Amino acid sequence: MPELPEVETTRRGIEPHVVGRRITALRVHDKRLRWPVDLSMVSTVTGRAIRRAGRRAKYLLLETEAGTLILHLGMSGSLRVLPVVTPRVAHDHVDIELDSGVTLRFNDPRRFGSLLFTPEDPSSHPLLKKLAPEPLEPKFDGEYLWKVTRRRSVAIKQLIMNSQLVVGVGNIYASEALFRARIRPRRQARKLTRPECGKLARAIKATLAMAVKVGGTTLRDYVGADGNPGYFRQKLYVYERDGQPCRVCARPVKQFTQGQRSTYWCSNCQK
Ligand SMILES: [Zn+2]
Repeated sequence: MPELPEVETTRRGIEPHVVGRRITALRVHDKRLRWPVDLSMVSTVTGRAIRRAGRRAKYLLLETEAGTLILHLGMSGSLRVLPVVTPRVAHDHVDIELDSGVTLRFNDPRRFGSLLFTPEDPSSHPLLKKLAPEPLEPKFDGEYLWKVTRRRSVAIKQLIMNSQLVVGVGNIYASEALFRARIRPRRQARKLTRPECGKLARAIKATLAMAVKVGGTTLRDYVGADGNPGYFRQKLYVYERDGQPCRVCARPVKQFTQGQRSTYWCSNCQK
């Protein structure tokens, strides 16, 4: 599933191809996405220039002169920049054709993705307005984590994956950030000390920033006609490494199930 770094990588990959370009056609081949695509947006955005390619949490925001297209990749969605003439393949649901002769093509086998439109400021859209702070922005820091962990006895891993408190920390990055911060995934959130909250906030930022950076090396995958989305495999510390030696202390990495998700950790390095 595309997580925040993949979405940011996608945003950076499409940005130079879309900003300043005019939408010559919006073709919805199959409107049965997570929510049915409202076809009235087609005439609204056709002929409009794209001013900005933004992101909020895992939503990509294509800001046009008439309003903003809000795209979510869902569980299996991907966007590619292709020459308009490229034949469609299975699960290509939407084409946003541009005056440069390319199309931004949305493919999504499982159709949990979505395409919405708002003429308003997207930050006031019902899906976006209640979102928690972005982990890569300054507002998210140790003090913020300290505040939201007080009186919460839920395990810290589950807290940082709660999108009402922090957006965009998926299962991979939660395990990795807790390893970097040397904090046990099962620790009660409220038992973290202030310095630990600071460490964890920095670890979350570093983990996501690294993933975005590594994802950046696969940007070419978004422009090739044969390009599958190039979701990277970064050098992970613990995720899916159970039984393998910890990269710090060489003891075997452990795994357990937490909130129906696999958690990976080192019982020696994490306290
Ligand atoms: Zn270790």
